[in-house]
Amino acid sequence: MSRLLAHGLMKLRRRDFLKAATIATAAMGLPASMVDKVAAALKAPERPPVIWLHFMECTGCTESLLRASHPDVATLILDLISLEYHETLMAAAGKQAEENLKHAVEKYRNRYICVVEGGIPTKDDGVYCKIGGRTALEILKDVAPGASAIIAIGTCASFGGVQAASPNPTGAVGVQDIVKDKPLINVPGCPPNPYNFLSTVVYLLTFKKFPELDRLRRPKFAYGRRIHDQCERRPHFDEGRFVEQFGDEGHRQGYCLYKMGCKGPATYANCPVQRFCDVGTWPVGSGHGCIGCTEPDFWDNMTPFYQHLPGEEVPAGGGIIRQAERIGKFALGAAAAGIAVHAAAGVIKKATTKEEKEE
Ligand code: SF4
Repeated sequence: MSRLLAHGLMKLRRRDFLKAATIATAAMGLPASMVDKVAAALKAPERPPVIWLHFMECTGCTESLLRASHPDVATLILDLISLEYHETLMAAAGKQAEENLKHAVEKYRNRYICVVEGGIPTKDDGVYCKIGGRTALEILKDVAPGASAIIAIGTCASFGGVQAASPNPTGAVGVQDIVKDKPLINVPGCPPNPYNFLSTVVYLLTFKKFPELDRLRRPKFAYGRRIHDQCERRPHFDEGRFVEQFGDEGHRQGYCLYKMGCKGPATYANCPVQRFCDVGTWPVGSGHGCIGCTEPDFWDNMTPFYQHLPGEEVPAGGGIIRQAERIGKFALGAAAAGIAVHAAAGVIKKATTKEEKEE
C-alpha cells in the first residue's frame, strides 16, 4: 500500500485513532465497552491484503470513501488494510498494474478480501466492460475463488445499479449473481456511506466474521431500519405537514418530502443517523427526497423519483425485498391514508372556522 498513496503512509494520531475506533464501534451498534476490543483489532500489525476491483461504475464509491474525514477514513483504511490492487489509487498502470493483480492473487490466495465496485455485464460474454483485454466477468471469476471474503461496495456491485436499469442492455448484475460460493456482504448506496464500509471492515477485523446480515446480505447495523423511521422530518409527516412544491414555505420550514416523492418509507439505510461528509448532512436533510438508492433495482422500482409510489401497488419488477415492500407498502398506504386524514382534518378545521365565523 505504501506504493499507492502518500497519505496511506500517514499514521493516525492517538486521539484520532481512538476517535475512529469509537465512531466505528458506535456505527456497528456495539456498546462503548467494545471500543478497546475494536481499537486492539485496528492496532494489530497484520493488515489483511485487499484486492479492489473496478467494473461498470462511476468510481463514486471510492470518491466518497476518500473524501470522508473526522476521522480521516481514507487514512484509516489505508493504514488498516494492505491494498494490493486498486485501479484508481495505485501508481502502477497498464501491464505493470495487471501484473500486480496477478501477483497479489497468487501471493495472498485464500487470504485476501476482494472488494468489488461496479456492476458486471454478462450479455455477449461480458464484452461491455473490459480491463487489460479481459472482461469484468473473466476478472471476477479469476479473482473471487482465491478470496477469503467479498465485499460488494455500492449499489452497482450489490445489485447491478444504474447499468441494470430496464432494459439493462448489457445484462448487468451484482457480484452475488455470479459468485455463489464465497462469504459475501453487500454495502449498497449510490454512493454508500463510507462509514458503513469502514465499519464492515472493522467488524471483520475485530470479530473475524461478518456482522449480522439481512436477506439482501446487507449489514443490519447499517441497513436494519427504514430511513423513514429515523428521519428528522418524521414529526412533520406524522402531523401532516408536507412540502407541496420545491421552494414553497413548507420546504423552507423543513416539512416532510413524501409528496415530493421521498422513498424513505420503503428504503432501509442509516443515512439520517450516519450522514455524509464533514458537514454531517444527507439528502433529505438538504431538502431532497430519498430516492431509495440502497434498494435493489431502485432505478426501476423507485421511479419517478419526484412522485411517491402508488399506495397499494406492488412496484413493477418485484426488486424491493418482500419485507421492505410489505412494510413500505404499508407505510406508503398509511402515508396516503395519513395524508387523506390530515387533508380531511384540514377541511373539517376550515369548515369549523367558517361556521364559527357565521355564528
Ligand atoms: Fe423523512 Fe421522507 Fe419519511 Fe418524510 S417521507 S419523514 S422526508 S423519510
